[in-house]
Amino acid sequence: MSSKSIGVSSYFECPSCKCDTIEEVMIDVTISTTISDMHFLPKGYQDWVMNDSVEVEYGLHDDGNPTTEYGQVDRYQCVNCGWVIRDENENAITNPEDLFEWLIEHKENREKELNTH
Ligand SMILES: [Zn+2]
Repeated sequence: MSSKSIGVSSYFECPSCKCDTIEEVMIDVTISTTISDMHFLPKGYQDWVMNDSVEVEYGLHDDGNPTTEYGQVDRYQCVNCGWVIRDENENAITNPEDLFEWLIEHKENREKELNTH
């Protein structure tokens, strides 16, 4: 089998809101990221600052992403409305192999529907 790439936004259309972006939601994940600046905010500095606190600004690793370790995909969903992608048994899809197939299958179905109308 040869390799194949698909652009998610040209394959996905949320049935609920027509958005074309999917987000991956992970649980039990360990994320490491560099930190760059720290800001001390004294209590009362703004109305919403109830206690002395420090805000951290996050940097990025060389590849531009935080490093994620462990964790597992809980679901894939529409980034806009949270519509969850499910297989034919109504189980949330939780691995990229199934998502890949789902995207291709559903794009084909959408195109078939367009052609029959
Ligand atoms: Zn949506």
